[in-house]
Order: sequence, then C-alpha cells, then structure tokens
Amino acid sequence: MAAVIPCVTRISQNIIRILGCNPSSETQQGTNTYIIGSGKRRILIDCGEADVPQYINHLRAVLNYEGIDLAHIFISHGHEDHIGGLADIFEHLKDKTKHCQVWKHPSPKDSGLNIPKHIEIENFKEGQEFAVEGATIRILRSPGHTDDHVAFHLLEDNAVFSGDCILGDGVAVCEDLFDQVHSLGEIASLRPSVVYPGHGNIIHNPIETIHFYMQHQMQRERMIIEFLINNKSQSFNNEDLVKLVYENLPEKQVKAALTSINHHLLKLLKEDRVRNSNGKWQINDIQLVASY
Ligand SMILES: [Zn+2]
Repeated sequence: MAAVIPCVTRISQNIIRILGCNPSSETQQGTNTYIIGSGKRRILIDCGEADVPQYINHLRAVLNYEGIDLAHIFISHGHEDHIGGLADIFEHLKDKTKHCQVWKHPSPKDSGLNIPKHIEIENFKEGQEFAVEGATIRILRSPGHTDDHVAFHLLEDNAVFSGDCILGDGVAVCEDLFDQVHSLGEIASLRPSVVYPGHGNIIHNPIETIHFYMQHQMQRERMIIEFLINNKSQSFNNEDLVKLVYENLPEKQVKAALTSINHHLLKLLKEDRVRNSNGKWQINDIQLVASY
C-alpha cells in the first residue's frame, strides 16, 4: 500500500506539495502540484483538475498563509488532471495570479484544451531557465507519456519534478515508448538526488527506479525480438504476437498486452530493428546480423 499523501505538505524550505484532491484509478491519490521558491513570488507546477473546490481552497490557504503570489504556472503536459484546474485558479485566486505567466510545451492537441481565451499560455523552450527567490528551474523536454511532456530540474537541489514521466507508485503509461525510454535516460543522466512525481510518493532512489523500469521494458523487448528471430521467415500481426510471445495470458490481460506490444513494436520500428508490411511484423535482416 502506498503511503497516504496529505492534502498539503511542506517538503522543504523551497517546496510545498498540494494534492489535487482528484483521486481515481488513473490519478492514484490525485495529482501532485508543487509550489516552488522561498520568496514572495513563486512557481506552481501543475494545476490539478477542473471543478475541485477543495484543491482551490488548499491552494488559497497556502498562498495566504505564506503571504505569496504566483509568478509562473508550469504545466507538465496537456492532460486534464494537470491543466484542468488552470481556469479555476485564475477565476478564484485573482489577487494571487495578477502578474502570473502560464507556460507549457506546445502540442497540436492544444486546440482541444478547454482554456478561456483571456488566459495566455507561453511556450517553453528546451533548456529554458526560470529563477525565483530560492529556486532556479531548468526545463527538460521529456516526451513519451505525451508528445508535449516536460519535466523540471530544480538546480539548487538537483531534484526533478517528473510530471507523469516517472510516477511515485506504479509505472507510467506512455504514448511513445521510444521517446519515453530516451526521456528516462535524460533524467537519469542528471543523477537527480530526488524525484517529485506528478502522482504518488516522493522517489528518493530515482536512479534505481528508472533502472528497474528500463530493465522491465528491455526484458519484454528481448522476448519479442527473440521470438521474431526464431521465426524469421514469418510475419505476425499484433494479436498473433500477444498470444505467442506472452503464452497463457489470462483473457482479461489481453487488451493491456496488445497496447504494450504495440508500443514495443513501434519503438523497434523506429530503431529499424523490425519491419512492418500490411500490419504484419517481421524481424529486419540487419537485426539478424547484429547479435542481440
Ligand atoms: Zn497525470
């Protein structure tokens, strides 16, 4: 059982975590949002969901108690549980957002976001740095979970706010495994001392956590590659592969396995290790030469 996350937690002198109060099977205990900095003007990372008065009340209480306002709001990615609360924050905390800039990495899907016109969203640039009293944050592009995902590197603490790229409890789902693995590698290369995830508890051993995830993915990938090598003259569709690679899979896990195998195959396709014609997968000849 994951440790219970309180509604408001002072994590350190320059980090306060406020839970989005939006628990669900997808969001776990809810979205973690973070107030960063130690001065009068601070940064909020992520916004929780729309229509959650409890979250707005907690955020207001913290801002009032600290006597601070928001200089910037950073959105890790365009999912409702991270950006949905933005309009409510501007509507209900006007005095705290008077000079607040909102930032996000742009995505073609942004047109589908339900953001009122008067809230302007600026575009992050890769490597861009923001400084408020007590905190310098560098923007870290980390696509994979979504195409617009960014993480945040708090330089003073060598801490990473990972959004949904790395979760505190359980494994993050992703749209693009090739990108996700690359993003995890980028985060690992910083050797962060701690990761503050978008959902779940604080990760105090980030390198181990990333390593564990990578191992798990590699193991699956190896199973697929070995199967395709052993059957190199044949090609298979996704359904065949799920049955043949994951033997004796219970019926209720088939859907999840299909999604997973599709992610792996698309990653292998990007790496030129498999080819696809008419929806059927086959090992690429070059893969046979390179010993796996
Ligand atoms: Zn999320």
